[in-house]
Amino acid sequence: MTQFSTPLSSSLGDVRGKRVLVRSDLNVPLDGMTITDDGRIRASVPTIQGLAEAGARVVVVAHLGRPKGTPDPAYSLAPVAARLGELLGVPVAFATDTVGESAAAVVGGLADGEVAVLENVRFNAGETSKDDAERGAFADQLAGLADAFVSDGFGVVHRKQASVYDVAQRLPHAMGQLVATEIDVLRRLTVSPERPYVVVLGGSKVSDKLGVIDNLLDKADKLLIGGGMVFTFLKAQGHEVGKSLLEEDQLDTCRAYLARASESGVEIVLPTDIVVDTAFPSGDREPEPVVVPASEIPADSLGLDIGPESAKAFAAELADARTVFWNGPMGVFEVEAFAAGTRAVAEALTRVDGLSVVGGGDSAAAVRQLGFEESAFGHISTGGGASLEYLEGKELPGIAVLED
Ligand code: ADP
Ligand code: MG
Repeated sequence: MTQFSTPLSSSLGDVRGKRVLVRSDLNVPLDGMTITDDGRIRASVPTIQGLAEAGARVVVVAHLGRPKGTPDPAYSLAPVAARLGELLGVPVAFATDTVGESAAAVVGGLADGEVAVLENVRFNAGETSKDDAERGAFADQLAGLADAFVSDGFGVVHRKQASVYDVAQRLPHAMGQLVATEIDVLRRLTVSPERPYVVVLGGSKVSDKLGVIDNLLDKADKLLIGGGMVFTFLKAQGHEVGKSLLEEDQLDTCRAYLARASESGVEIVLPTDIVVDTAFPSGDREPEPVVVPASEIPADSLGLDIGPESAKAFAAELADARTVFWNGPMGVFEVEAFAAGTRAVAEALTRVDGLSVVGGGDSAAAVRQLGFEESAFGHISTGGGASLEYLEGKELPGIAVLED
């Protein structure tokens, strides 16, 4: 717990006997009641454990999925609380509401060094409300449960939500260890990164990620693009992309980026071959992957991974990089037939002599699912959206509120 003392104790002082509300990001993928990837829970442990060991009465607040502001058993944090208890090696109390009678009773029953988890914070409409008063009223209730607040949910620090932003205005607050580490790594990616600095982008949330390119075009030496967003770039270059993921309204933006890159000497590297199939993978049929040149995607097909020649080329580009940021799988890695591009990039990242950062929920899940050791990477970020917004140069409300 050595790094822990810096951000926390400086601003919170002695936490023994204090009720400390910790906003964690426990938003893990679930298959029914089974947690399929507990990475975010494990990443949340050090701060919770550190506070408990320091004698705090730890009250964890978190969300799971996107319930509609009202209780929904499908999104209960109960299985997550149980897993947290296993990882901590101590029983964790669970409140069946977030700020109601159960929460009051559970928090009231905590002894020094004990941990409780509150039910999904998004079961309350006030959490994500755009109305400051409604959010504030809910934050008042959350703040009423604690003496201090620790912000450790990196995956949500870009959200102006009650348990992230408003509650920090109502309690003595500090940054948790996870958020402090994430911000430190992101700073190293933006303030004089060691060169060559290569950024790899993929995934499916195309328009979310085009924004980051804008900022990185001034910072990175090379941008390797795969995943779903590649097809908007290929189309922008005049190629047909068949039934592939495409954002028509971003074509001009992509053209502008390509032009800017060639002017500024930043290289945008696109795949030269693509693995296609005639349908998106589903349980109903066996995949029939076919490798085609990126410029010759058949009209009846869609691109689902970068091809073997491109995977090799991307790996070669990464071989001499000193700083790498990777967000977004190169293909539909969940299906083995379309996982090779993602595997090749992950493999290349493990060999980087310098700082290698994997950002994004699915990217992090991909490296684990494909069997890589987490320690093979410099850092695996728990927050995709938050790290992208930081790299875009945007202010993160959940961080700004801690810096007053
Ligand atoms: P992250 O969570 O790491 O930020 P995203 O959520 O943007 O990444 O994207 C992850 C998803 O992108 C994966 O589920 C993967 O199957 C999908 N994906 C990757 N390549 C393609 C593609 N060519 N077409 C459609 N989906 C893709
Ligand atoms: Mg994702």
